[in-house]
Amino acid sequence: MSDKIKVINLDFVNVFLIKVKDGYILIDTGLPQQWEKLDEELISAGCLPGRLKLVIITHGDWDHTGNCSMLQEKYKAKIAMHSADAFMAEGQVFLKRKIRTLSRRIFFRFRMLMMKLQKNKISFNKFKPDILLANGQNMGEYGFDAKIIHIPGHTKGSIGILTAEGDLFAGDTLVNRNKPDSAEIIENLQELENSIDMLKKMNIKMVYPGHGRPFMMKNYLKTSI
Ligand SMILES: [Zn+2]
Repeated sequence: MSDKIKVINLDFVNVFLIKVKDGYILIDTGLPQQWEKLDEELISAGCLPGRLKLVIITHGDWDHTGNCSMLQEKYKAKIAMHSADAFMAEGQVFLKRKIRTLSRRIFFRFRMLMMKLQKNKISFNKFKPDILLANGQNMGEYGFDAKIIHIPGHTKGSIGILTAEGDLFAGDTLVNRNKPDSAEIIENLQELENSIDMLKKMNIKMVYPGHGRPFMMKNYLKTSI
């Protein structure tokens, strides 16, 4: 794992702080009730307000966008996300999606039930993205040698961020709950399969998923054939 990448675990979601020239890039933001932990982690890493050059959101789900408005306010950070998920920033959206396996269906229903019971835990802070991303976009102007890959399937506007060194920030398109795997929650299966086929052809070494520990792409390829 590159020493430029700091994995910050916020409850069940990962966010990633990347050291770039003259500052930092943050990928995803976690749940709003994790704001204090995120704020502390950024400051202890040296990412003070003003040094956060960009926040890139892998997709519009609330567990990834929960601290965008706080980061805009305190850090004056710009938020970038794919245009196809931008509508999800305007309010809490529960897309119509399928969950792949029965055990995961039970797990997610239970989690949603627990969250409804603890009503204060299910808050959402609206925000307005500053930058709308498109496939192939280069992040060089932010000092980050990486490009955006549009990988719809989990949501329409899901993206991967692939660095020149072969690190892929995969959002929820690839996850690692028990083992490296593709998305469990699916908006469009055909699109997801196309996206994964495309990723398989790319030069990817390490995958940094939205949930679970980072893994080597070759370990995913072994299990998915
Ligand atoms: Zn997620």
